[in-house]
Amino acid sequence: MRAEGIETARRILLVFPRYTSAFATWEYAYPLTDGVQALMPPQGLLLIAAYLPPGWQVRFVDENIRAATQADFEWAEAVFVSGMHIQRKQMNDICRRAHEHDLPVALGGPSVSACPDYYPAFDYLHLGELGDATDTLIATLSRDVTRPAQQVVLTTAERLPMTEFPVPAYELAELKKYFLANIQYSSGCPYQCEFCDIPGLYGRNPRLKTPQQVIAELDKLREGGSTNTVYFVDDNFIGNRKATLELLPHIIAWQKKHGYPTRLACEATLNIAKRPEILEKMQEAFFITIFCGIETPDPDALKAMQKDHNMMVPILEGVKTINSYGMEVVSGIIMGLDTDKMDTANALIEFVEQSRIPMLTINLLQALPKTPLWDRLERENRLNHDESRDSNVEFLLPYDHVVSEWKRVMKAVYAPEKLLDRYEYQCDYTYANRVKPPASTQATWPNIRRGLIMMRNVIWRLGVVGDYKRIFWKFALRRLRKGDIEGMLAASLVGHHLIRFGQEATSGNQNASNYSVRLREAAMPAE
Ligand code: SF4
Repeated sequence: MRAEGIETARRILLVFPRYTSAFATWEYAYPLTDGVQALMPPQGLLLIAAYLPPGWQVRFVDENIRAATQADFEWAEAVFVSGMHIQRKQMNDICRRAHEHDLPVALGGPSVSACPDYYPAFDYLHLGELGDATDTLIATLSRDVTRPAQQVVLTTAERLPMTEFPVPAYELAELKKYFLANIQYSSGCPYQCEFCDIPGLYGRNPRLKTPQQVIAELDKLREGGSTNTVYFVDDNFIGNRKATLELLPHIIAWQKKHGYPTRLACEATLNIAKRPEILEKMQEAFFITIFCGIETPDPDALKAMQKDHNMMVPILEGVKTINSYGMEVVSGIIMGLDTDKMDTANALIEFVEQSRIPMLTINLLQALPKTPLWDRLERENRLNHDESRDSNVEFLLPYDHVVSEWKRVMKAVYAPEKLLDRYEYQCDYTYANRVKPPASTQATWPNIRRGLIMMRNVIWRLGVVGDYKRIFWKFALRRLRKGDIEGMLAASLVGHHLIRFGQEATSGNQNASNYSVRLREAAMPAE
C-alpha cells in the first residue's frame, strides 16, 4: 500500500520536539557520557522518512540535539512532527514556527492519536499507525502544499502490515548522540490492564515484523556507527511468545557473527519469568534489561487493575529468576490506586529493598483517554482536568497525601547509598550472569576511548565535585577492587540520573507522572 498518483516530489522537514525533563529522558546522565545529547532516535519520524516516495527529499531535525533553523523552514515545502504527551507544548511551538513560513504542518504519533483536541493549530492530523491515512497525506501534499483552510483529520483505517514496514531511515539520525538505539518489533498487547492505552490504540493481537526485518535494522544501526544498547520499544516483547521464540535465534546468530557488539533491552510482562525457554535465549542474545510493569506488589491492586498476569509467579521470585539470566529488571510502579492505603508508601519502599531493583519509574496514576480507567472514572465523575495538578484522577485518598507519599518514596529509594547498594547487588548477582563478549570486539580503540572519557567524567563529576562523593567512592572502589570497571561505570552513570531526578522530585521540580498534563515550562530548543 503506497500512495498512488504522486504528482510532485516534495521537500519534507521532519522535526522531533524537545523533551520536557522527565524520569526516562536521562538528561542528568548525559554529561557523564562521551557526547550524548538525546534519548532515542524517533522511530515514527524515521519510519515516515523511509516510507516517503522515491524522489522526495527529507531533512530530519531532532530538537533535542539542535533547533530547526530559519534555513530549514525556508528549504521545506511541508513539515511533519511527531511526539508524546510530554512534548505537547513543544509540538505546538514547532507548528507555530512553521506557520511563520506559511508551511503546512502534519502531526502524527502517539499523543495526537490519543488526544487530537490538544492540537487545534496543525493543518493535518494523522491519527493511528502507518497506513491509508499516510498515503492520503502524501498524495494530498504531492498535489498541493498550500495550507488547507481548515484542519484535515486523517485516520488510519487500514494499517500497513508490519511485514511491509521499511527499515527506518536511521541514516538521517546522528546515532552517536543518542543514549539508546531502538527498534520496534511488534505493536499491540494481548492484555487489558485498566490504565493502559496500548490495546485501545494498537490492538490486542500483536502485529509483528519478520526476523529478517529486525536483523536488517540491527545491521543498519551497526553500519550507522551505533554502539549503544538497542531498546526494543514494543510494549510487550512477549506479546506473541511463539514469534519471540522464532526471532531470538536470528538475533543470537547475528550477535555471534559480529562478536556480540550490541546489548539489548526490552519491555515485557513479568510472567516472562515462567518461560525459561525464552529467558535462556534472551540471555544468549545479550539482553541485559527488561522493563516490567510490576505496578504494585499488592495482589488486590493487581487484580483490580486487571493485571493478574503479574501474579503468575510470586513477584520477588520472578525478579530473581530474570536476574539469574543476566537481565536487570526495571520496574514501573503506580501510586494513587483506589486500592492504596495510608501506608502503601512503606510497603513500596520495603518492596524496593527486597527486590533489589535499582531503577523504578514511580508515577502517580494518570487516566489516559481510550482506556477502561478513563471510562470508569468518567462514569464516577472522578476525572479532574485542572492542569496544575500532578494527576487528572480524583484519588480516594487525599490528593496532598498521595503526592507527599510519592515524594517520600522517591526520596527513600533514590537516596544515593540505597541506590548504589542495589546496583552493587546487580553487579554481583545479575551482570555476572551475562554473556561475555569476546575481547577482540570489545577492546577496540573507539570503545577504549569512550570508556576513558566516561571514566574521566564520572570521576570528576561524582568523585571530585559531586555532592555524594563519599558514597560514590565507597561503591566505586569496591567495584574497582573486583576489576569491574564496566559495572562501576554503568551503575554510576545511570544511578546519577536517578539520584538527581529523585532530588528534583523531592523538591517539587518534577512531575509525579510521566503522563501528567501538568505542563512545566519546556526547555528552550537546543542552540
Ligand atoms: S500495561 Fe503492559 S501488559 Fe498491560 S495492556 Fe499495557 S502493554 Fe499490555
